[in-house]
Formats: sequence, structure tokens, C-alpha cells
Amino acid sequence: MVSMTLSMVADAAAKNPVVSADNDVMKLTFLGTGAPRPSTERYGPSILIEAGDHRILVDAGPGMRERLFEAGGFEAISGVDHVLVTHLHFDHTVSISSAWLSGWLFGRRVPLVVQGPSGIKSMMEHIQKAYQWDIDYRVMVGVPVEGSELVVKEVSEGVILEQQGLRITAFQVEHMPVDLKTRELLGLRGETLGYRVDYKGHSVVFSGDTKTSTKSDILKYGQGVDLLIHEVQVPSPGATPEANLANVSLSVHSTPAEVGFVFAKSRPKMAIYSHIIPPGTTAEDLIKLTRPYYDGPLTVAHDFMEITLSGDEIIIGDREKQGDGKFEDSKVLDE
Ligand SMILES: [Zn+2]
Ligand SMILES: [Zn+2]
Repeated sequence: MVSMTLSMVADAAAKNPVVSADNDVMKLTFLGTGAPRPSTERYGPSILIEAGDHRILVDAGPGMRERLFEAGGFEAISGVDHVLVTHLHFDHTVSISSAWLSGWLFGRRVPLVVQGPSGIKSMMEHIQKAYQWDIDYRVMVGVPVEGSELVVKEVSEGVILEQQGLRITAFQVEHMPVDLKTRELLGLRGETLGYRVDYKGHSVVFSGDTKTSTKSDILKYGQGVDLLIHEVQVPSPGATPEANLANVSLSVHSTPAEVGFVFAKSRPKMAIYSHIIPPGTTAEDLIKLTRPYYDGPLTVAHDFMEITLSGDEIIIGDREKQGDGKFEDSKVLDE
């Protein structure tokens, strides 16, 4: 084991300050940086935001619960009380039930707030019905009913939360199916949201899934932000049936060239790729494909990457894993 002197500990704390209600520190942890295709390297899309007393997930894709547990143990599982949903695709929503029920079972005693686009109410009502038996059962054997409630809000463009230094703004992005020839919408109802999160002088924009363009509202909300986190799909080369099938989704996702233009126009302090299709794409490949269009600061996220905003600093590293602690030893039981 490495022994640390006090000054080293102080340096480490200064380099990676902790989140507290008394400071301006905002931390993001990438719990999953992939998309629908299963990957043990890149789990489904989900990003944890920690700022002051806030613990918020942006999307809850496959594997979220396990990544959250590894990132922060039972305290993290029970500490999340808010989910921002970008849209209803399963790779963004399949673990909402875990955020809701695991959080409750392991200690959350306030309702889970879920905000998302039109359709999220219906989805959550169905999920709630599906697990009513489970909830009744657990309450009957002694789990407090408090925390099993859901507060669901359908939101569109505008400020959707303003509380204790935190402001969250939703905006519309393009991700609905279109006719490949005419680019006209095919008429499926629904929408996809991007989010901007501001906290004590820091600003982060999440693109949501989108076929981005220089007309996108991402430019309006992402102008000069600290972090602009954008999805990306690298086109599969060739004209094989597999490549053609993979490339169908390019009508609703963004190529590195398209995102490069958006990064160049919005000039964030740090541009970040997450929701990476296909999941095996390397950081080197993505950077090479983007450089002809954007020459600013660029990071390719990976699962467990942690970004800390503190003062003027952007500190990028890896989340220290909490391991596999026992529930009986967790702080959740002290509260
Ligand atoms: Zn997606
Ligand atoms: Zn999608």
C-alpha cells in the first residue's frame, strides 16, 4: 500500500476537491458512454451530476445501477433523487426502474423526481403499475413506504428547475425519424431534449441523441459553456449489408464532422464525446475524424471518467471506485 504524507493528501484534495453545499464544486461521472449495442466497456448512457446537495442522473441506460454502486456504494444509489430523461429510447430509460426502486429499497426516503419529454408520464405510469405488487409486498414486510413515490413532469423548452444555486434548462433537439430522401419527419409523436445545467458559475450542456446541425439549439444553449457533451456516430465504411444497417441510424445521429462544426461554432471550454456509436470506436479515431472541423479542447469520455469543475478549473480523471461494500457497513443506515 502506498503511504501518503499529509501534504500529499492536501494536494490530492486540492486537485480533486469534494462536492459540498459550501463550495462551487460540480462533478460529473460518466456511468455509461455507449448506446443500445451491448458492450462491457461502454455501458448504456447515464451521467451522474453532483453539486451541493444535488444528485441527478442524466438518463438511466443499461448497467446504470451497477456503475452507480461501484462509483459511490449504497450512498450513491440512495442519494440520487432526480432523473433527467432526454427521450424514451430504451438505451436511455431501461434503468429508471432501478434508480427508482433500488434507491428506495436502499434508503431514499423522498420521492424520485423524473423529468422528461412528452410521453414520460405514460411510461412511468406503466412502470409504476408493473411494480405495484413488489412495492405492496415490501411495504408489508416493513420497508417504509416513504421514497416509493414518483413525481413525474413532462417538460419542453425552458427552465425546469431552479434550486440552491442550480438551474436546469431543457431545449429541443432533432432526433425523430425522417424520410431519408426528403428529410421530412415521418410523423411519430414525441421529442428529444437536450439539457443545460448551470451551477454557481459552471455550465454544462448535454446534447441528448441528435442529428446535429449548425441550426441546432445546442449552439444557442452551448455557446461558450464549460462542458459541451455531445453524442456521436462514426459511419461504418463500405457497402456491406452490416455497414448499411449500421448506417441507417446516421439519419438521427451525428457524425464527427457534424459535431465538429457544432463544437467549432459553440467554442466550449471543453468539448466531450459520449454516447459513442459503435462502442469500440477509439478516442484516437474520434479525435482524428473531428480535427479537420474543430481544433479546440476535446475529450472522449469513457465509463467512470470523472470531470470536476471548481473555480476556473476543469479537472479530468477517473472516479475512484468504492468497491463492493456491505449494506450493513454503509452510512445509509446511520441516517
Ligand atoms: Zn441513444
Ligand atoms: Zn435515441
